[in-house]
Amino acid sequence: MQSLVQKYLEQIYSSVLPDSSGWLADYIPELAVVNPEKFGICIATIDGTVYEVGDAEWPFTIQSVSKPFTYGMALADNGEQAVDAKIDVEPSGDAYNEISLERGTGRPLNPMINAGAILAASLVNGAEPEEQFERLRDFYSRFAGRELPLDYNVFTSEHDAGDRNRAIAYMLRTVGVLDQLPEDALDVYFRQCSVQVTARDLALMAATLANTGMQPLTGEQVLSPQLVRRVLSVMTTCGMYDAAGDWVSAVGLPAKSGVGGGILAVLPGQIGIAAYSPRIDRHSHSVRGVKACRALSDTFDLHFLNVT
Ligand code: GLU
Repeated sequence: MQSLVQKYLEQIYSSVLPDSSGWLADYIPELAVVNPEKFGICIATIDGTVYEVGDAEWPFTIQSVSKPFTYGMALADNGEQAVDAKIDVEPSGDAYNEISLERGTGRPLNPMINAGAILAASLVNGAEPEEQFERLRDFYSRFAGRELPLDYNVFTSEHDAGDRNRAIAYMLRTVGVLDQLPEDALDVYFRQCSVQVTARDLALMAATLANTGMQPLTGEQVLSPQLVRRVLSVMTTCGMYDAAGDWVSAVGLPAKSGVGGGILAVLPGQIGIAAYSPRIDRHSHSVRGVKACRALSDTFDLHFLNVT
């Protein structure tokens, strides 16, 4: 018998599917040629039950959805104090690629905007960028419960067209907060953005965060509960960039989106949610992904400040 959750998921999918507004990210050629019609939603519970609908197993690049996980690894590798000295945790209200740093200290305002994310990538341990990235890829894979591949074409494109991120990295170096060579930090960052996932992977990554860092299917403790709390806090205040306030009011879940069309959200202690649809809005969030998350939050009463 079809479960009630599956039934509601399919209803939400059908109601959001007709929305073809938004546009494909085009800052690199590879993202401008993906199939705009793909749409999938997935829910994973902390006991490992997975519900999916549509193109939930269609591969795409993780892009900025990688940022909270890299931040988690930077915290695990260096300790909270050392990372706090380099990256603040204040919402910036800026777009993801804004070239802005804290006055006086030069710290990026948070690890979800590119400035903070590039710095977080540089703080991942490893003798060289290749090793740093492989550690990250392994880390993301342990959240997902399967080995995640790199999309090499997207990586090459990110690398060749990444002048704005290059400008950010050189600025970080100039103000003295980036210890690694800018090109090396960018190499790690461009690779992390190019890791290939599905909505199902993202839902399981989100469910691992919901489960205080323990992967529901493998039972592995991937990140400590204390650091999961840090990561979720920053996702709540900064994960949706310049739409964070509206998101928290309407959906009420820590979340992270990526310009590739992926989005994940976490209901601590209960479920991870993910959606994929590549057409994005002016905040660089998936149009259908945001709609699906809003509908899920309403339907299942997921807002974390619900008191009724
Ligand atoms: N690779 C993208 C960039 O850094 C990621 C942006 C995003 O997903 O928001 O420009």
